[in-house]
Amino acid sequence: MERRDFLRFALAAPVIPAAAAQTYEQRTRALPPITITGARVISTSGGGPYRWVFLKIETSEPGLYGIGSAANHYQPMAVIASLETSLIPWLIGKDPDRIEDLWQAAQMRTYWRNGPVNNNVLAAMDMALWDIKGKRAGMPVYDLLGGKAHDAVAVYDHQGGRTKEECVESLEKSLANGFTHVRIQYGEGGYGGGGFIPPGEGGRAEGGYQGPAFDEELYVDTIPPVFDYVRAKAGFKPKLIHDVHSHMSGMNAVELARRLQPYQMFYVEDILPPEQIDYYRNIRQICTTPQAVGEVFSHPYEYLPLVENRLIDFVRCRVAAIGGITREKKIANMCEIYGVRTAFQEGGENDPVNQMASYHVDLSSSAFGIQEENHFPPLVHEMFPGIGEIRRGYLYGSGKPGLGLDIDEKIVAKYPLVPPKGGGVYKTDRKIDGTVVKP
Ligand code: MG
Repeated sequence: MERRDFLRFALAAPVIPAAAAQTYEQRTRALPPITITGARVISTSGGGPYRWVFLKIETSEPGLYGIGSAANHYQPMAVIASLETSLIPWLIGKDPDRIEDLWQAAQMRTYWRNGPVNNNVLAAMDMALWDIKGKRAGMPVYDLLGGKAHDAVAVYDHQGGRTKEECVESLEKSLANGFTHVRIQYGEGGYGGGGFIPPGEGGRAEGGYQGPAFDEELYVDTIPPVFDYVRAKAGFKPKLIHDVHSHMSGMNAVELARRLQPYQMFYVEDILPPEQIDYYRNIRQICTTPQAVGEVFSHPYEYLPLVENRLIDFVRCRVAAIGGITREKKIANMCEIYGVRTAFQEGGENDPVNQMASYHVDLSSSAFGIQEENHFPPLVHEMFPGIGEIRRGYLYGSGKPGLGLDIDEKIVAKYPLVPPKGGGVYKTDRKIDGTVVKP
């Protein structure tokens, strides 16, 4: 190249502002190494019935910290104890940039691993580290995970009714609010509604259980006609979901999936408990009703065979229950390879930090299917500046670096977590002879 050609080339080249180059440099290689200087638990009732536990990790860079969710509504005090007595002392002094290494080492540090409490602790650390890395890079976490794979995160709404007519009315409300995916539950008694024999009725054992009794065959007979009615009134355009909440066993699950096929469900959720996942093979052999599974999964070997054998259509782990963003992203990648989609779990008792952690994985994944809706009262929006917002069926983050939201500790301090009475246990459903039903 002649000198004058070089000059012409140089003149034609786009001018890169010095400030932009400097910012990139500052944000990456030029930053000094940092260490974790402190970590502490923040817990709150959220000014309501919540039992939220968060971990805040502080670094040697002034003002640089991250937050993570250790959401576990049923054992929050065990999670706090594990964070304070085990994880935090181990974490101080470590390099927060090495997320993958810290995740692996933190998991092995307890020797026994993959239990719910351990996963919550791991998840809180992991989310806080991604939050720190995002803030350091000046990018939302989804950008660090590969950037947006789609425009926004679609969420499904929750509806239902005590009658078929109420189910249709509530569905129409969601559709009017812009939701295209709606979960419909039926009857009274919470999950399993439509399958309960009223208290004292039916053939009870002498001196035995007298409460509402879940009956699998009654449920299999009741639910499909509900969706028959909803489809007749609302048509086939709405994408419908129904949550069985693990209440079925064996062939009753297979039969329910078969009877729901004419109503073209978007998916049926947790038709079986994790202890009986082999029956998904039987369901696959006789019908095409899509299956979503996994909100109580805590070990990779619960979802791995279902995904690699293509026995389900959606994995719906909760990010705080399976070890955080690092593991959830790996699950999403695995799903993508096998053509399975994600429908990560949120749940009404869950917190805004967990919601945003899922959002970043959702937004960056080509395996994304749908996200569970969760919304919060105005006080919680004040507590968590940058909280996600749902508009017309989509969840939006703040776009700020890291997870994109913060905890206002002054407000949170006014609403301390109340240790749950009676241990905070999950409600137990029973069959007519008193046998415990899996939730
Ligand atoms: Mg569920």
